Amino acid sequence: MCGIVGYVGSRAAEEILVEGLRRLEYRGYDSAGVATVTPTGEFAVCKSVGRIDNLAARLEKSPAPGTVGIGHTRWATHGAPNDVNSHPHLGGDGSLVLCHNGVIENYRALKSVLEAEGYVFRSATDTEVVAHLIDSCLRAEQANLEQAKPSKKKEADSIDVYARAIKVALAQLHGTYGLTIMFRDVPRTIFAARLGSPLVVGVGEDEHFVASDASPLVGHTTKIVYLSDHELAVVTEDQLRIMHRDTGNVAVNVKQMEVVSSQVQLNGYEHYMLKEIYEQPETIQNAMRGRLSLDEATSVFGGLNLTAAQLRNINRIILTGCGTSWHAALVGEYLIEEFARIPVEIEYASELRYRNPPLDNNTLLFAITQSGETADTLAALREMKRKGHPSLAICNVVGSTIA
Ligand code: GLU
Repeated sequence: MCGIVGYVGSRAAEEILVEGLRRLEYRGYDSAGVATVTPTGEFAVCKSVGRIDNLAARLEKSPAPGTVGIGHTRWATHGAPNDVNSHPHLGGDGSLVLCHNGVIENYRALKSVLEAEGYVFRSATDTEVVAHLIDSCLRAEQANLEQAKPSKKKEADSIDVYARAIKVALAQLHGTYGLTIMFRDVPRTIFAARLGSPLVVGVGEDEHFVASDASPLVGHTTKIVYLSDHELAVVTEDQLRIMHRDTGNVAVNVKQMEVVSSQVQLNGYEHYMLKEIYEQPETIQNAMRGRLSLDEATSVFGGLNLTAAQLRNINRIILTGCGTSWHAALVGEYLIEEFARIPVEIEYASELRYRNPPLDNNTLLFAITQSGETADTLAALREMKRKGHPSLAICNVVGSTIA
C-alpha cells in the first residue's frame, strides 16, 4: 500500500503535493501522479512511471495550477507500472478524478457491469473501476432527484448527493481502499474514504490536508484526525465533516501530533525490522486478499499457468531463491509438505543455474524473489524453463522480468 496526499486551501497545491509524496517515498512505489483543479475549473492531471523526480520534471514542463489537489504514489497490484496505470484516474467523461491505495477484489465483476453500461476503460487497474462506479452511482442519484419533487431538486448540487453516490459505490466494493476523490462540479471539496488502508486529515488555518500517514503534514500543521474504517470525510478549506457508513455524522476528533516525521514512519516501533515483524499478520492477510474464492472453496492465482490436471501430476517441487527468499523457501518446504503432501527440495538459485540436477518430468520449479529481478533466480528459472520443466514464481513487483 503506497501513498496518498491531498490539499485544499489557498496555497499552490502542486508544490505541497509533490513534497508530500516525497515524504511518503519510504513506503516504496513504482509511479506517481497528481491532479489539481485549475482556476478555470478543469482537472490538470500529471503522472509518470518511476521516481517522483520524473513527475516533478513533467510538472515543470506542464504545471498543475490551482489550490486544490490530490497526489499518489503507486505500488502496482493490477496492471503494469506505466504512465496510463498510474493514479490519479478519471471517472466517467472526466466528471471526477481519484487516487486509491489498496486492492479491489471484485473489480472484474464490476468492470463487466460498467462496460455494459458503456464505460470505456483506459487502464488495466482495479482502481479505474471505482472511478467509473462512483460516476455511475452519481448519475443514478442525480436522475432520482430530477424526478423527485421540485423542493428536492435544489439538493441535486448539494454535497450530500456526491457523498451519497460515493457511499452507494463503496458498498459494492470488496477489498481495501484509501481513496481521495474530487468532482468537477464541486471543485473545492476533497472526499476521502477508507477501509483497511490508512488515511489521516491534517487541520490547518483555512486549509486541510489528507494523507496516508502524518509525514506529509509535518511543518504544515500539528492537528491531525485519524479516519477509521467505513468513514467518509468531506474536506473543504474551512470545513471537515466525517460520516460513518452505519452511524451517519460522527464527531471530528482532532488530536495533537507530537512525533517528528522520522518517528511517524516507524509508527511507534523502535526500528523498521521490529515494525515489519509486527506487521506480518496484516501483510499475510493482504497477500491473500482477492486470492481466495469462498464460493469455489479454492485459491485463485492470477499467474497460475498450469491446469488442475497438470498440477495433480506434480510429484516433486523445487523451491529456489537467494537470501531472504531462500529462507522463505525453507518455511515453504514445511508448509507445502504438510498440506500438499508433495516432497519439496530447496536449491540456491546461484547453484541451480549452473547445476544439472536429475529432475523427472513431473517436477515443478518455484522461484521466489521479492523484486522479480534477482539475477541468479532469473537465470535458474530460465534454465529450468529451457529444459521444459513447469515453472512458477512468487514475486512482489507487477511488471518485473520474472512476473
Ligand atoms: N490496486 C491499485 C493499482 O494497482 C492501487 C495500488 C496501490 O495501493 O498503490 O493501481
